[in-house]
Amino acid sequence: MNLKPPFHRIHLSNPEFDGNELRYIHEAFQAGQIATSGAFIPQFEQKLEEELGEGCIVALNSGTSAIHLALLLLGVEKGDEVICQTLTFAASANPIMYLGAKPIFVDSEKQTWNICPHLLEETILDRISKGKLPKAIISVNLFGMPCQMTEIMEIAQRYGIPVVEDAAESLGSKINGQHCGTMGDIGIFSFNGNKVITTGGGGAIHTLNLKWAKRARFLSTQSKDNFPHYEHSEIGYNYKMNNIAAGIGIAQLDSLDRWIKKRREIYHFYETELHQLPGISFLPEPEGFFSNRWLSTLLINSREAGFDTNEIRIFLDKHHIESRPVWKPMHLQPVYQQAMYFGGTIAENLFDQGICLPSSSHLSMQERERVLECFHLMYQRNYKKSY
Ligand SMILES: *Cc1c(COP(=O)(O)O)cnc(C)c1O
Repeated sequence: MNLKPPFHRIHLSNPEFDGNELRYIHEAFQAGQIATSGAFIPQFEQKLEEELGEGCIVALNSGTSAIHLALLLLGVEKGDEVICQTLTFAASANPIMYLGAKPIFVDSEKQTWNICPHLLEETILDRISKGKLPKAIISVNLFGMPCQMTEIMEIAQRYGIPVVEDAAESLGSKINGQHCGTMGDIGIFSFNGNKVITTGGGGAIHTLNLKWAKRARFLSTQSKDNFPHYEHSEIGYNYKMNNIAAGIGIAQLDSLDRWIKKRREIYHFYETELHQLPGISFLPEPEGFFSNRWLSTLLINSREAGFDTNEIRIFLDKHHIESRPVWKPMHLQPVYQQAMYFGGTIAENLFDQGICLPSSSHLSMQERERVLECFHLMYQRNYKKSY
């Protein structure tokens, strides 16, 4: 196989447009509806509601604003404590800070890489013993893998704490047939450019509570009271999704199942081809769990493999292939130095050993082989070095 440049670069996760995206954009322009009012917005919300099976969707301009609104709906205020999975993208936690509340980060479990239910309960008990009942819990379904939502909801309900399910990466993932993003008190989605479906930039809130959905709409459109002039009795936000984005979203939803199937195929390709190599391990789905496999991830034990995640990342990059370390835990981020943390080194080890491989749904067989070839070359190189 010829790995010499020039070779097109393989990216981690790029969107695909193979449906009515351009047609709907065109229609939005023709109708003169390119801003935050227009027919595509309620249509997109309805289509997503149908996909998820129950509850109410409010379309927003990002997943981050969806988390911010979710915390506002739950009444999080300055000085409140909010529990958050430490192993995640910063956008899960930053809205806690927007509200002047305090994040409390909790370690992951090995089975799903997501928040550990036992540690979650220990954390809650510790905070209660200090007279501080956490105001909310943010759980995340990393790389598409659902967290242990049944256990998490049981614990949360025992102490009366609402759960925000950050399903930004897990649209279409399920536990026993129930969709991620519909199992918490509020679920949030992201339609950013690199997610399973994209609207350019966008997000959504999911809730079964119609009053919350109504209030999310109110807050996301500058909190306008019902008057002919602009009257405000509350601070509002400019968080609504625009009509062009919603049009793109409608087209993208048509392809969701097909793209998840492809992403899962890519994961299975990597797993089948790489799992027998020394030091490589994967993240299988627990019984009843269905992951959209947004990003294919694997762990590298550097002692057994003879190279670490950083070396393979640089090697892949030289061969024009993008890969990325797993999210750096929030409690290790400089900006969260002061934050409280409960747990050990599981998230830290996942960060050290985890790597995300190219996972775009349009990744061709040839491109998959290129990734594979780099792994084989890496092993060969190390084999030669040891002589
Ligand atoms: C992408 C992402 C977000 C934020 O979504 P945006 O639409 O980019 O604001 C939040 N949480 C997680 C886990 C994400 O991956």
